Amino acid sequence: MLFKSGIGFIVLEMPCSFYERVLKKKEVNGLAAVHLEILKEDSRTRARLGKLHTPHGVIETPVFMPVGTQGTVKTITPEEIKEIGAGIILSNTYHLFLRPGHELIREAGGLHRFMNWDGAILTDSGGFQVFSLGDLRKIKESGVEFRSHIDGSLQFLSPEIATQVQMALGSDIVMAFDECAPYPCTHEYAKDSLERTTRWLKRCKETLTTTDTQALFGIVQGGMYEDLRRQSASEIIELDLPGYAIGGLSVGEPKDLMYEVLDYTVPLLPREKPRYLMGVGSPDALIEGVMRGVDMFDCVLPTRIARNGTAMTRYGKVIVRNAGSAHDFGPIDPSCDCYTCRNYSRAYIRHLIKAEEILGLRLMTIHNLRYLQTLMREIREAIKEDRLPEYRQKCFSDYGYEFD
Ligand SMILES: [Zn+2]
Repeated sequence: MLFKSGIGFIVLEMPCSFYERVLKKKEVNGLAAVHLEILKEDSRTRARLGKLHTPHGVIETPVFMPVGTQGTVKTITPEEIKEIGAGIILSNTYHLFLRPGHELIREAGGLHRFMNWDGAILTDSGGFQVFSLGDLRKIKESGVEFRSHIDGSLQFLSPEIATQVQMALGSDIVMAFDECAPYPCTHEYAKDSLERTTRWLKRCKETLTTTDTQALFGIVQGGMYEDLRRQSASEIIELDLPGYAIGGLSVGEPKDLMYEVLDYTVPLLPREKPRYLMGVGSPDALIEGVMRGVDMFDCVLPTRIARNGTAMTRYGKVIVRNAGSAHDFGPIDPSCDCYTCRNYSRAYIRHLIKAEEILGLRLMTIHNLRYLQTLMREIREAIKEDRLPEYRQKCFSDYGYEFD
């Protein structure tokens, strides 16, 4: 039974019918499938500490999301992703649309069941990949025609199709089909592109009918132009979505320029909604992004460089495949608690990488992902204890000011 009070609905603890339970859930929460609970806001920076509630678990924020492009975080199992401490991963609409096809994943019961991952999943819309195809794609108002990178076949993605694909995948967070303008680009191009992105976003919103289990995030575009970022933010906020992403950054611009764009863009977004900075995962940019008020990040960087034999550590990058590691029988990072550092030496991992053994790639991936989970946990602790700027300073001096 529900009574309305001055501050919302109060639920009396008494047996209630199914209908009342449904009502209770809707009215008391009154929240989207995915929503952010803000636990603390930093007094000296724009950082926030929070909990992201999703249909597949609660995730502490700020958070880094490992990337599982093809429905797998390359080389490791979902059990290992969990052991690393990640509760949410990202997967790619473009790749899964082309192979194995979203209908097959729907038939399997959705992506969570297909890949045996019961944590949360965010799927990108495919826009970024499609626009990265350059000459192989053609932009129209209806959508984008492109050639598959797999077999060269002609394909088409639109706001409606990208959303329907993500509905079939059953991801917790559905990203809007947007156009990510290249860097550099003219003011005119960036303006046309962001206005199309807004029109496309409205079509994504109309298509998504599963808002009880899936949350659509809009994407702020506008290149490196402040007036356009303002225009984009104000247009998409009007649609009152469960979350907002900042796109079109980390596309080759200098980091200082990215921070400048964040400085004026993040404050335009509603305080109570999650904010996601797309494609950022270097340790320095994670810290700088958090300090500017970002809650969520993703990037292929840690897993990609792991497979090239480069480890991320709090003392800087370690190129394990280099000769310097050949006789080093200590761990990659003595301060790291990951499975790799607890059990294997640099010398052994270097041998595996040189010999092109798959285990080498697995061990490196586990380490790099754990490093970023540890970094994010320490960032959260620093926010909680009001010492984020000091923590930033320590990270930068430990790392040798050579983050990238
Ligand atoms: Zn480690």
